[in-house]
Formats: sequence, C-alpha cells, structure tokens
Amino acid sequence: MLTTVVGSYPVSDPCVPESISSKISNFLGVYDPYIPLLELAVKDQVTAGVDIISDGQIRGDMIEVFARHLPGMVFKDNTSKIFDKIKPANHSLGGNDLKHAIKTAQKTSSDFLDSTKLDINLLVGNNFNKNFKGVKGIITGPTTLVLSSRVEGFYNRDKKEKIIMDMAMALKREAYSLQEAGAAIIQIDEPYLSTGVADLKTAKNAIKIITDNLSIPVSMHVCGDIGDIFKDILKFSVQIIDCEFAGLPNNIKALEQEYGGSKKIGFGCIDTKVEDVDELDHVVNLIKKGVDIVGEENIMLDPDCGMRMLSRDVALLKLKKMTEAVGWF
Ligand SMILES: [Zn+2]
Repeated sequence: MLTTVVGSYPVSDPCVPESISSKISNFLGVYDPYIPLLELAVKDQVTAGVDIISDGQIRGDMIEVFARHLPGMVFKDNTSKIFDKIKPANHSLGGNDLKHAIKTAQKTSSDFLDSTKLDINLLVGNNFNKNFKGVKGIITGPTTLVLSSRVEGFYNRDKKEKIIMDMAMALKREAYSLQEAGAAIIQIDEPYLSTGVADLKTAKNAIKIITDNLSIPVSMHVCGDIGDIFKDILKFSVQIIDCEFAGLPNNIKALEQEYGGSKKIGFGCIDTKVEDVDELDHVVNLIKKGVDIVGEENIMLDPDCGMRMLSRDVALLKLKKMTEAVGWF
C-alpha cells in the first residue's frame, strides 16, 4: 500500500543564514529562510519511508499562504480578507517549493530518481501501486478559502457561490502550475465541507473547475466528522477522497455504509491530534479494517491531518509508525 502525508510538517522559525554561502545569498538579497525548513521536512518524510511526500507547507498556514498572494485577497491582523475580485496569481505560489522538494527528495533517496517508480500510471485504476514515489502539490480548496475569509468591498452584494467560483478559477491556474512543476498528484484541502456551513453543490462545481484539465490524479482531503457528507463527497470529480479514521473512528461507519468502489480512499491511520505516538498493533488493526472495506488496491495511507502542531520528533516517529505498520501487509 502507498503511504503519503496530508501536508504540513512541524516547523521552527525561519532560519537565519549561518553558512558562508547562505550569508552571501543574504547579502545579495536572495536568501530564502524557509528553504532549510523545507529540506528538513522532505528529508524526514523520505527517511521515514513515505512514498508520496509534501514540501512540508512550511511558509504558513493553509489560508494565509493563499490570502497573501492571490489578487483580490489580503492577510492582515491575522485575518484573511477578500476585498476585490479574485483572479489567478501571475506566478505559481507553490511551484518553486515543489521543484525544490523533488530535488531534495532525489538527493535523499535514489528511489525518487528511479523511472520505474515515477510512472504516473502506477496511480491509476488497478495499478495503484506500492512502488510509486513522488511529491504532491497541495492547494487549499475554494470553499474553505472563501468561508474562512472576511468578504468586504467588491463582492458585498454577491452570493458566496459567485466568490467560490472565482476562487476556483484562480486555483485552477495554480493546480495546473503544480502539475507542470512535477507534482505526482494534486491534493485539494477542503476541511470546511465537514463543518455543516458549506454548500456541497457549489463546492462540487468548484472542484470540477479545478480538476477539469489536470492529467494527474487529484485527492480531496476533508478532515472532521464525515458521517453526514461522505455519500456526497464521493461524487466529487476527484480520484481519491482522504479522511481521518484514527482520531475519528466513527468515520469508519460512513466508509462501511457508503463506499461503493468508485474512488480510492486516503485512509488517515495515525492520530495527529495527540503527541502520543500511536501503538503499532492499533495502527495495523485500523488499516486492516479499512482494507476489509475498500480493498488493498483502493487504499492509500496517511496521517489523519497535517502535522504542524506536533513536535518534529513526534511527527517523525508517527510517520515511521505508519510505514512500519504497512510492512505487516
Ligand atoms: Zn485536515
């Protein structure tokens, strides 16, 4: 079974330049204090044996990084605001980090250079393969971005639906840029879909806009209790639906009742809300439950959610526990 991460990795403060080369870069104004954090996150994930890694989402939280850079949005006083028409950014927000993550993974493990493990067909249909290696591109979903922002100015009289559709058009460009930068899959994070405040029909239409012209698999991550919405999100135009099953064991019931085989399942099997490292037999048993319901050929394993709030030591141990558990199958 393939393993992946949801995305964020624990980070320290941005690094001050220490080596001579980084001091020279700093002097020239091209030093990027986040790059050492990205490299650390990538190396930890690769060392833990994770197959599809992320860049660690080291530049800020999932709302902030988009609110700071998308035209029409601003991040001020710790709040994301939509003040003008949302348009695609004229540069990729995450493309350079993704490329750097790929390079770092390749330097850390030759598996990430092996063409037999990089073929995207290994992720399609019954080929869903445990020998695949790659880096995922991650975007925050249009519904989540709009519902977590304050709307003032341009869209004052508009319904949320109109704003979400404009957001989807802007994110479509970013998703395509990440694909072009070498992403193995695209993941769209839509935690708001389980809160009860999102209109699922609008959310579904918005996701379709983003995924329409992508040629790589797309996963949608929805954390929280999916009991009431799982049936609906299984109809979204993505190949993989990714949810929490370790911290929210009740989600298993939804999987049991609603799963019809049309999607691959991203199966959160590590609890990311607690610092205690999950017990091996507990993780193995949980995975077994998931496999019994959806079949080994339809499952991809990951921690429940991002790991930003954990300490780095714990995050690494949790990832290792996940890959150790896979070894039992
Ligand atoms: Zn999450």
